[in-house]
Amino acid sequence: MKRLLAAIVPVFALLMPPLAHAQNGKSVHGADERFKADILVVVAHPDDEAAVTPYLVRAMYDLHKRVVIIYGTHGESGGNSYAKERAGALADIREIEARDACARLGIKNVWFLDGKDTASQNVLNSLANWGHGQNLERLVQLLRLTRPEIVIASMPGMFIGENHGDHQTTGVLATEAFDLAGNPTAFPEQIAGASPQREVYLHNLGAWQPSKLYFYPDSNDDKQFAGTGPAYSVLEISPSQKKPYWRLALDPAMTHMTQYPDDIDRILKLSDAQIEKMMKDPDQGWWTEPETLIFGKSVVGGKPTDDVFANVTEHNPLGADLGGRPVLGEPGQARLVMGGPWGFYQAFLQAHGLTNLPEAKVPEIGIKAGTQVYVPLMIHHAAGEAMQIKTQVEAPSGWKVSGGQGEFVLPAEDTTELRVQIDTPTLSADELKKAEAQLILVRAEANGKSLGEVRLRVLLRPGGLPQ
Ligand SMILES: [Zn+2]
Repeated sequence: MKRLLAAIVPVFALLMPPLAHAQNGKSVHGADERFKADILVVVAHPDDEAAVTPYLVRAMYDLHKRVVIIYGTHGESGGNSYAKERAGALADIREIEARDACARLGIKNVWFLDGKDTASQNVLNSLANWGHGQNLERLVQLLRLTRPEIVIASMPGMFIGENHGDHQTTGVLATEAFDLAGNPTAFPEQIAGASPQREVYLHNLGAWQPSKLYFYPDSNDDKQFAGTGPAYSVLEISPSQKKPYWRLALDPAMTHMTQYPDDIDRILKLSDAQIEKMMKDPDQGWWTEPETLIFGKSVVGGKPTDDVFANVTEHNPLGADLGGRPVLGEPGQARLVMGGPWGFYQAFLQAHGLTNLPEAKVPEIGIKAGTQVYVPLMIHHAAGEAMQIKTQVEAPSGWKVSGGQGEFVLPAEDTTELRVQIDTPTLSADELKKAEAQLILVRAEANGKSLGEVRLRVLLRPGGLPQ
């Protein structure tokens, strides 16, 4: 009983020596760099990637940019012009044809959304048939996983041409995902972290704001888009590959046998000179010269016709004023705030104008005595740089800090989630009846400077749901 009524006992002395230049903190995992992209392309169907491959090979081979491709559907509908398989079996084949095309381009990171081929020019049909919300959620997740600076998708608009509703859908979803991925209150379960090793629900991704959004057209007359964005020659010779960009884009397209086997057969039988003549012929060539990427928007400024990577830096422009995006604490300053559900609700209430809703004065929770309580921490970095921090925890007497205290080296990211874990004591029935809420206090500092503190009131109870 005594231990419950005791005032908070500092576990560590309040005054700690500054971190100075010590580098012995525990390293916290950062994001998986194998999946970092510079350009993320969203296309509707297997083979649609060919609409932008002349630009992609330029960006990859000569600018060393990393590219991710996301397909909306598996291309399960439509005919099979090569063999007998249809429907689900055709989808399985087309996924491999698409992956093969990407592999030939040198693109390994390829995902498929859960869209369903929808034969109509009405984007609303496709959005309905695909499952708009579910696919948007997944696309936001993939943006946060791959952290691209540039997003490219099919043009959301109606023009004479194939004008496929599925193509337009990628433009709608990419635009919505571009606007949402940097907002921590959009699909917040993807952002939440500080999870124990076997956490099965939370993704521990960071919010991510891409810098620029571009589109490619699906019309009969692409010349009408001249001047709406940067234009790149498809005929130019790649300095590193010594071949024209169209040629580097053509070979990977030869994998789509179920879609245009006759063309592939014919092209494979042509001499280099004959292929070149065909591709330079405006009536037969696959690509319009030059290829225009239609400018959608930029959060880093610049003119629509600027180069795709103009003004783009490696740093995530999360600080960009995009309106309506909640910011906890002092923007631009390294700081400690509450993470987990408490941090989420703070941002959520702010984002939705629910500022009159009652909130606990100090964040609080009741948990079963003898179980572990955790305090989720969110550390905002000043400018996305790596930092070394020290946390100290004050817990009630008899409670044991089992994790999250000490020195940590945080990766070069915008935010890092950490979790302070504390084992609570088991209590007798009598002790439980008289129990009062106890306070846990967590402080963090970097280079001897306080990053702030967070508090959690905890009431030990006879039972209850796990935290
Ligand atoms: Zn298509």
